[in-house]
Amino acid sequence: MEILDLTAVELGERIRRRELSAPEALEAVYGAFRARDRNWNAYTAFEIDPARTAAQHAQTLLDSGETLSPLAGVPVGIKDNISVRACLTTCASRILRDYRAPFDATAVRKLKDAGLVPAGTLNMDEFAMGSTSETSCYGAVRNPWNRGHVPGGSSGGAAAAVAARECVCALGSDTGGSVRQPASYCGVTGFKPSYGRVSRYGLIAYGSSLDQIGTLARDVRDCAALLDVIAGADAMDATSVTFPDAGFLGALSGDIHGLRVGVPEECFGDGVETDVGERVEAALDELQRAGAELVPLRLPFIRYAVPVYYILATAEASSNLSRFDGVKYGYRAEHYTTMEELYTRSRSEGFGKEVQKRILLGTFVLSSGYYDAYYNKALKLRQTLVDGFAEAFGRCDVIASPVSPTTAPALGASLSDPLKMYLSDVFTVPANLAGLPGLSVPCGFDRQGLPVGLQLLGAAGADSTVLNAGHAYQLVTDWHKRRPQHSEEVSGNV
Ligand code: GLN
Repeated sequence: MEILDLTAVELGERIRRRELSAPEALEAVYGAFRARDRNWNAYTAFEIDPARTAAQHAQTLLDSGETLSPLAGVPVGIKDNISVRACLTTCASRILRDYRAPFDATAVRKLKDAGLVPAGTLNMDEFAMGSTSETSCYGAVRNPWNRGHVPGGSSGGAAAAVAARECVCALGSDTGGSVRQPASYCGVTGFKPSYGRVSRYGLIAYGSSLDQIGTLARDVRDCAALLDVIAGADAMDATSVTFPDAGFLGALSGDIHGLRVGVPEECFGDGVETDVGERVEAALDELQRAGAELVPLRLPFIRYAVPVYYILATAEASSNLSRFDGVKYGYRAEHYTTMEELYTRSRSEGFGKEVQKRILLGTFVLSSGYYDAYYNKALKLRQTLVDGFAEAFGRCDVIASPVSPTTAPALGASLSDPLKMYLSDVFTVPANLAGLPGLSVPCGFDRQGLPVGLQLLGAAGADSTVLNAGHAYQLVTDWHKRRPQHSEEVSGNV
């Protein structure tokens, strides 16, 4: 079996048994990147020297016989908005094109301390704003199942790289679905932890009250093993929390007898593509056969989620992105005469259209005169969602739905109809507004051969319950083991 066909846990096992070294695992990933990434554009950069240093460090830790993560030695792709010391961390934006992070994000530091190897920087929508990975200043990412379709976004590079076997597993970020939705479009497993579970220190902020670092991998076991490494409270992020549970990989019993799976009426039927609805309903049947009990639910409040999300996310983004002014970081306009002109030109030339649109929208909803009508109203409705979910989780343990109402759109289709693109976030944004853990697992294909994803949400802090439900599903199905034909054809070159 090729190295890149292994799951992260299997690869970690081989490294521990000395069948393979950490530097060899890294070279396999780097080789796949060099041989095949021109097909997908999943990476924005692959700086091999720092990755080789990290792999050497990992091997030294392994050789010292220290007890390490089961993933010690495994290479991990990093989304381009998570800081890796001395490496380019550009948010796929012209404004940060030459920016090298002077420090490691806490999640990255934890990877290195546990002997994992940050390897390669993954493409994304500019500043994580988007659902298609088409707004990157490095060009669009392609879906490994069909090059004419998007991989989803904003962590589209991470999902495509895992699907195309150019990467074993990856860290992404999820503000409104950016881990779960690309995972679903690319047929891989993606997990967004509860808000606060993973430190955001070093994750370049989009919407700080919504952002969370998450994992993309071959299966739930890999996501759980990665989460074991990166979770935990951090003095550098005042919103991070140590929840009482820990040991996610160890908690995957696969037993879901008696698990109550809520099935919201609002997430099925109108607006959901027929193939998607059918695949997700078939997945519910599987869960039931595995011992779960299906509980019909009504979540009328989720119709507020998209408007509330786009008000709050853009408001926070307009404030977070004010630091990119042409003075402190990155790109500076060449021609200016006044200070005002320096700011305006640097930002107009440095940011892409989608980012500028969101900054304007966010500035508008926060402006005096409109603040109460939009921002404050959205905050109140956010509380309605939080309360609604708390009530729902009194009646069920997890909530199941499609990840997205459709499979991956064709390239270009979403940018020509942005409202439709925003509306397609309907099933993913509620988890961010309420701080809930959310998992995306592959559950089949539509008639075009594009992957469909099942989403499982849990109460805040119930990450283990969600992961275990997804693991139970993967024990009785093999959708997560399918691989795109394309990458199979070329895998022999590596
Ligand atoms: N598609 C959503 C947006 O454009 C979510 C993005 C994300 O989670 N980073 O804001």
